[in-house]
Amino acid sequence: VTDLGALLDGLPAWSTDPEALARAGVDRSGAIPDGLPTAVVYATGTDDVVRTVAFAAEHGIPVVPRGAGSGVSGGALAGTGAIVLDLSRLNRILEIRPDDAIAVVQPGVITADLDAAAAEHGLRYAPDPASAAFSTIGGNIATNAGGLRCVKYGVTRDAVLALDVVTGDGRLLRTGRTTLKGVTGYDLTSLLVGSEGTLGVVVGATVKLLPVPRATATATAYFPDARTAVEAVTRLRRTGLRPSTLEFLDHATLAAIDAAQGGDLAARGRAFLLVQTDGYGAEEEMAAVVEVLKTTATLVDTSDDTAAADRLLATRRQALPAIERLGRVLIEDVVVPTTRLADAVDGIERIVRATGVRIFTFAHAGDGNLHPIVLVEDDGPPVGEAVDALFALALELGGTLTGEHGVGLLKRDWLAAELGDVSLDLQRRIKSVFDPAGVLNPGKAITER
Ligand SMILES: Cc1cc2nc3c(=O)[nH]c(=O)nc-3n(C[C@H](O)[C@H](O)[C@H](O)COP(=O)(O)OP(=O)(O)OC[C@H]3O[C@@H](n4cnc5c(N)ncnc54)[C@H](O)[C@@H]3O)c2cc1C
Repeated sequence: VTDLGALLDGLPAWSTDPEALARAGVDRSGAIPDGLPTAVVYATGTDDVVRTVAFAAEHGIPVVPRGAGSGVSGGALAGTGAIVLDLSRLNRILEIRPDDAIAVVQPGVITADLDAAAAEHGLRYAPDPASAAFSTIGGNIATNAGGLRCVKYGVTRDAVLALDVVTGDGRLLRTGRTTLKGVTGYDLTSLLVGSEGTLGVVVGATVKLLPVPRATATATAYFPDARTAVEAVTRLRRTGLRPSTLEFLDHATLAAIDAAQGGDLAARGRAFLLVQTDGYGAEEEMAAVVEVLKTTATLVDTSDDTAAADRLLATRRQALPAIERLGRVLIEDVVVPTTRLADAVDGIERIVRATGVRIFTFAHAGDGNLHPIVLVEDDGPPVGEAVDALFALALELGGTLTGEHGVGLLKRDWLAAELGDVSLDLQRRIKSVFDPAGVLNPGKAITER
């Protein structure tokens, strides 16, 4: 404790106030840590991060990097004895180079703020998690966050060119480059993206920006059932059309949004797709999309009114908060090949019938990324069997446990089933190369031996 006191005394911003510690130790997963962390350090510069990590490595103390704490898999959870390293005050956009279409940012920049700053130059930051209004770029990088327009423009990893990272031994590592191409050395940038704070603390990033599309067209379509809706996704892909957003909501989710916001989405159909096209040919492409949708949808609406489209996107972003109003939830994040989406929604319905557990499903359908949200009801059936069955279903269909939220704490039990022994062994060894003392977010993302 004396040593810790000496560390904190030398740092500009930190807290050991129990309320601050309680806030710093949790994320949006609803999981509860085993106690309060020891301290929260609010980094004000790279040096604070280097000193904190080096101290932790020397004393074998766990360090949990933290952005906005909006993660939903327990990745930022910090319990007894840990130091939380909060990066949210490192929130400056250092540079936007419009002609190179890149931005240099600190990790605590809010995702939507970067997008808005890029917009002043006719550019945008493409990855747009539904949490963009409050998540940080550092957290997005650590989880390889996806979003609504990732179906056309890629996930966070596709947008990151270079990183500044403090490794577990307190060294500052620079990875990648600011050119659009480059293969010198191993691709440590890609390795670090999605590593959930277990290999290094991101203290800076250079990211790609893209032109704001010339035009955007939006359609909504209602279907008689979930299977028919997701089959339309496969047909859209097969036609070579490239929607920039392709989101699915099932009937239970539509009803939850209606209950939260008022509205009659659930009365219009049993399943819903939200589709956007963009670019110079947005209208023409949308006309072709509508032709495909009309063959099986019971209702298709189109709109080129930006305000109406923004309202629809906002409605989609309300899906999770609307379900969370109903009680404690487990937020799942499985991905299947898009050709198996119909089998996935059938499988989820089978699990609901077999277990009696309530599951609400919405999906970044164009990516095959389903979010089955499992409701944990005090007087309801136990959910463990349903969750096991969901993961088994994803793997059986050639899919994966997590598309964008990360393994965190909550998905570790299923890790070995997907990765296998050889991969797990190599991943553990990679962890020990970056973090020899094993202090960076221990117990998250990959299981220790
Ligand atoms: C309503 C809602 C909607 C959401 N929608 C989406 C969505 O559409 N797509 C999606 O991908 N996610 C979504 N999420 C999940 C969450 O917002 C993302 O995982 C986001 O990337 C987390 O960012 P954060 O800044 O809150 O990170 P945190 O929650 O603070 O941390 C997440 C992980 O990153 C690590 N970390 C944070 N900062 C750093 C850093 N600088 N260096 C190293 N490691 C770090 C943490 O240790 C932790 O493991 C949603 C969450 C909510 C609540």
